[in-house]
Amino acid sequence: MYSISEDKIDLFFEAAAKTQDVYIPVENSSGKSNFEKYEKGIKLSKCLKTVRSAKDFFFPKAENLVNYIKEGKSFKVEDPRKDVKDFVVFGVRACDAASFNIIDSVYLNQTPVDTYYKNRRDHGTVITLACNNPERTCFCSAYGLDPSLSSSENAGDVFAWNCDGKYFFDAKTEKGKKLLESVKDVFENSTEEKIKDLQKEITDKIAQVPFAALDLEKIKKLPMLDMFNAKAWDKVAEPCLGCGTCTYVCPTCMCFDVRDFDSGKKIEQVRCYDSCMYSDFTQMAAENPRHTQKERSRQRFMHKLKYYPMAKENVFACVGCGRCLESCPVNMNIVKVIKMLNEEF
Ligand code: SF4
Ligand code: SF4
Repeated sequence: MYSISEDKIDLFFEAAAKTQDVYIPVENSSGKSNFEKYEKGIKLSKCLKTVRSAKDFFFPKAENLVNYIKEGKSFKVEDPRKDVKDFVVFGVRACDAASFNIIDSVYLNQTPVDTYYKNRRDHGTVITLACNNPERTCFCSAYGLDPSLSSSENAGDVFAWNCDGKYFFDAKTEKGKKLLESVKDVFENSTEEKIKDLQKEITDKIAQVPFAALDLEKIKKLPMLDMFNAKAWDKVAEPCLGCGTCTYVCPTCMCFDVRDFDSGKKIEQVRCYDSCMYSDFTQMAAENPRHTQKERSRQRFMHKLKYYPMAKENVFACVGCGRCLESCPVNMNIVKVIKMLNEEF
């Protein structure tokens, strides 16, 4: 394990940035933080959560998939992919790191592999940072996640802790080892003992957040059709504006649409985030399979709480990051849905 004093953390970013792009959480003028590319002078934010999740690095909002270049009466097909540079993302929280496992299970661990996604996963090194101060909206522990990073089951190439005026780093994968080895001159060697008290403190804190004891047992056992026909969906959908904000900030939402843009000389085929909360989501020539907001809201929560777990060994497609609790303009969110279903059944 390595460490570096908090006031020298820039030395680590600078050293890593010599060979690859480094992204860190940075606070903007309105006090919100998001990941930005490290450059000398940029200051690391001590925020817990970035507004946008780290999924954007692997599954960007929009990307050009293929170009069709007009050549007389025919078209030449062009792959617009440039070589992806290696990059490091520092400060990914345990919830966001766990979300990569969920997206991997769809885009990476089954055929056909999404080669656009794989390319970025191969080139990205994730540094997962323990959550010293979980927020009131956090409920990752309800899904068995560990924000103290005391379990090696957490996701990420390197685990990091901010403790005792220092940052501690422990590599968990070959990619992580390679990164730390390449910049080891900026570090001191450290022992694991230092972070034990912090891990215990975090475990105590996460046990006290309001939704720590959120009961998921009934949902696990509830037959799919009973849940599908629940009365709760009327109440869930009634206030929903169908704005899609919850899906855009969610680290596990991964639906996309594919559109063609004709610039006259070429047609660019682009995929971009889509949302099951939109009225034209999965619109087909014949008709739209979900006519009402009730059907659309139900789809979003059934997918996270029942369809995905049914297909993927009972793993929920929510990591308890709390972003949908913070950003929905009408205050509807997955915690309310779970509580409504628990009440009804
Ligand atoms: S559903 Fe909400 S709490 Fe769950 S992962 Fe998505 S944004 Fe986070
Ligand atoms: S953020 Fe809220 S209002 Fe907007 S689509 Fe999601 S649940 Fe509906």
